[in-house]
Amino acid sequence: MEFNQSFPRRDTRQITVGDVAVGGGAPITVQSMTVTKTADHEATLRQIYALAAAGADIVRCTCNEPAAAEGLARIVPRSPVPIVADIHHQYLRALEALEAGVHCLRLNPGNIRNPKHIKLVASEALDRRVPIRIGVNGGSLHPDLYAKYGGKVTPEAMVESAQQEIAYFEEVGFDLIKISVKASSVPLTIEAYRQLAEVTDYPLHLGVTEAGPPPIGTLKATAGMATLLAEGIGDTIRYSLTADPVEEAKAGRQLLETMGLRERKNVDLIACPSCGRAEVDVFAIAQEAMEAFGEKKIPLQVAVMGCVVNGPGEARDADLGIAAGNKRGHLFVKGQNVMVVPEDEMVATLIEWAEYIHTHGAQAALDRASSTRSAARRAAAQDRDRNLDQRGEDANNAEATIANIRLASKPRDEKRRDNTEEC
Ligand code: SF4
Repeated sequence: MEFNQSFPRRDTRQITVGDVAVGGGAPITVQSMTVTKTADHEATLRQIYALAAAGADIVRCTCNEPAAAEGLARIVPRSPVPIVADIHHQYLRALEALEAGVHCLRLNPGNIRNPKHIKLVASEALDRRVPIRIGVNGGSLHPDLYAKYGGKVTPEAMVESAQQEIAYFEEVGFDLIKISVKASSVPLTIEAYRQLAEVTDYPLHLGVTEAGPPPIGTLKATAGMATLLAEGIGDTIRYSLTADPVEEAKAGRQLLETMGLRERKNVDLIACPSCGRAEVDVFAIAQEAMEAFGEKKIPLQVAVMGCVVNGPGEARDADLGIAAGNKRGHLFVKGQNVMVVPEDEMVATLIEWAEYIHTHGAQAALDRASSTRSAARRAAAQDRDRNLDQRGEDANNAEATIANIRLASKPRDEKRRDNTEEC
């Protein structure tokens, strides 16, 4: 039975960043940030296009100098996605970015501290209906809050920082707000967002900051964000990886698709972990298939299985799959064997049939294979029986191993008795 339930979302207000809705039940969006000099608008635009192609819905660029604001003036009208200007320390850069036409600002309350400046930026943003992200960062908390919380970064201190900023904004009637409370510690990040979600209904931007390079950075960010998303918390996400930002956009998109929080756009490749029964190098074939599908926009679940004994059954929910057996590949659609191909054509066949199913549907694919299905079923049965004959039902020798474990755990006397009996 197909299990397709996603996670209930927390009710939040909705803002729009350019033409992209955030919060209020809108699809959760993926963000990333350029690493080019914003003043180099051509290089920055190239990166923005690459990020959008990889799945970013919104892109942030630093606005750290007047030349960056001028770059934004050239970037914004040509960008395929809304642009957020990232502002630290200099409130004047925020005013310049607004003048450049950005779709959103990110202010760090830890380092733009003068309430007069904060309110001025909020008033200017309000006039233009431009939202602002309050981007609290555990590494740059306001010194007064450090002092108040015993010189430590705590969830409470991060939430209080966000609330202080909200209060400044609301004083001038500004409520186009989204908030983040990121830390590099996963438990701290999770707890800060949980507490924040209790006290506000503004939409939340999730992230684990400075997560580091993949794969550990991806794991840390996923642990933090997936936990919160599963609790319904989070309206937009960003992976902060020490890597090409395209990896951030891809990871964001994949996380949301995997959790059923965004409609699938790319292939979902599932593959067995391999075992003693495998008749092919599953790792190599899965990798080859992953590369061959690449950026193809085929929203199907495709399986690569190492043997025909368990493969088609274990992957019966996949739209399409291939299982190895006796130097050939057994192609199956929705769990039904449809044809047999030589081992070196397995990946090419998968691609061809995935494209066919994507265009015509699974039933059309089964009809297409009507003349080869019975022969394919027989061939799969033969290879299955051959595999079982050679390797037995217990390809990993589990039964013998279990018997040894049981023997090892018996009291000494009992073992001696067993041995005596055997003799
Ligand atoms: S039994 Fe077959 S399908 Fe399952 S892990 Fe082993 S090789 Fe893969």
